[in-house]
Amino acid sequence: MKLQTKLFIGGEFVDAADGATFPTYNPFDGSVIAQVAEAKAADVDKAVAAAKKAFPAWRDMPAMARGRLLLKLADAIEANAEELAQLESLDTGHPLRDSRGLDVPRTAVTFRYFGGMADKHQGSVVPVEAGFLNYVLREPLGVVGQVVPWNFPLMFTSWKMGPALAAGNTIVLKPAEITPLSSLRIAELMAEVGIPAGVVNILPGHGSIAGQHLAEHPDVAKIAFTGSTAVGRKIVQASASNLKRVQLELGGKGANIVFSDANLKAAINGSAFAIFHNQGQACIAGSRLMLHKNIADEFLEGFVKLAKSIKLGNPLDPKTEMGPLTSKLHQQRVLNYCQIAQQEGGKILTGGKAPDAPELAKGFFVEPTIVMAQPQDRICQEEVFGPFVSVNTFESDEEAIAIANSTEYGLGGGLWTTNLQRAHRVAGSMKAGMVWINCYKRVNPGSPFGGVGSSGYGREMGFEAMHDYTDAKSVWVNVDAQIPPHYPR
Ligand code: NAD
Repeated sequence: MKLQTKLFIGGEFVDAADGATFPTYNPFDGSVIAQVAEAKAADVDKAVAAAKKAFPAWRDMPAMARGRLLLKLADAIEANAEELAQLESLDTGHPLRDSRGLDVPRTAVTFRYFGGMADKHQGSVVPVEAGFLNYVLREPLGVVGQVVPWNFPLMFTSWKMGPALAAGNTIVLKPAEITPLSSLRIAELMAEVGIPAGVVNILPGHGSIAGQHLAEHPDVAKIAFTGSTAVGRKIVQASASNLKRVQLELGGKGANIVFSDANLKAAINGSAFAIFHNQGQACIAGSRLMLHKNIADEFLEGFVKLAKSIKLGNPLDPKTEMGPLTSKLHQQRVLNYCQIAQQEGGKILTGGKAPDAPELAKGFFVEPTIVMAQPQDRICQEEVFGPFVSVNTFESDEEAIAIANSTEYGLGGGLWTTNLQRAHRVAGSMKAGMVWINCYKRVNPGSPFGGVGSSGYGREMGFEAMHDYTDAKSVWVNVDAQIPPHYPR
């Protein structure tokens, strides 16, 4: 397995200006995988300068040629799929079956989608007064800063960089400090397929230092941020210096509603995927399970049984269904919520602790946890971001909608029913950027992804993302209009 551990600036892997490094850990046993170069302000300045220098040529390259490079990158990711899957599992704790089956394929298809998009994102012609032609160009913004979290570090390279590059921007990306490895390997593949030096720069480093400096930087035209709502607020403040654009993909507290007419077998399995996939470390996780009281007992019997059967283990073992959380600190945070649940009078139906198995003792594990709670409890309002689901019951559709909409967040949500009218009515009433009916957590590079309320603003994916990485320029041409003089002389 190839490990890149240096900063990627101007097409080269380089040490940090002050030589600083920090460790990245294996969440399965707490061992150090590698020391990684740590970017600080001077490195951010250097990377932004490299991206600024590369911008005119990248912008002016035919869109089809830019797209072709992204298509080649998608091919390179597939050619190196197994190695990337192992690397992602090593650094994040994702079970290999998920890294192989979801993270790597989704990364490749997203780059491929935006490779195909590069020459299809067009401007428009506006039907204005006779004698004039008005056309609208979509122009790239320039240097964009991208700051991503640790829960899907490989996949987020494609979500963030795919549309930005296809639209003709150049990039400085800061991965999360605890999962820097896969984005550095992607940088290497980018160089191999011929993406020119400086077009993409990758800066492992700490958020409050490198991330903050990037967000404040006067030569950065936009910051695209995925992470917590608290840091999202800091990004908005930092952006004020030069009024850079901001796109925010923040936290979530997904409501997952099961009606009494649902196909329970499908709902149980889908609801388990909604919360337990990726150890629950997903902004769109279905972390609030809401059950109609008539089916609650039957549902919970099957749901708890399934949760107890999930196989925890070494992420690199293909049979493992749930790996460790990605950091020790985060494990402590999730375990702390298990205590809060009990203090609030919640009833833990399963889990609520680290597993007892000695072979898992060094890893950052938390057992799949299901807690009966009240909708206003902290554990139903705050993002836990772990394999931790709160459960409450409801009696009417109106009550379900009211509970679903009772948090500050509005990212993803789901519902399970066989009633067509109910499905559309409830979906339309949910405060959310994405709703899944009789499924959960579906994503596709063509379908807009993002939230409302404290879940942020702006959209990733599809034409919406291309739009967010370009400015409209309206051009007026007098074709043959006779304009009466405004100041007749
Ligand atoms: P975080 O906000 O702590 O960190 C995210 C990134 O921001 C990291 O790279 C970090 O280094 C950087 N950062 C921290 N402080 C910064 C600052 N002052 N200025 C600039 N950058 C800074 O979040 P996290 O704990 O890494 O990730 C989990 C959070 O991300 C959860 O809230 C989750 O819901 C959210 N998330 C949202 C989405 C989405 O699409 N809406 C997707 C995944 C994760």
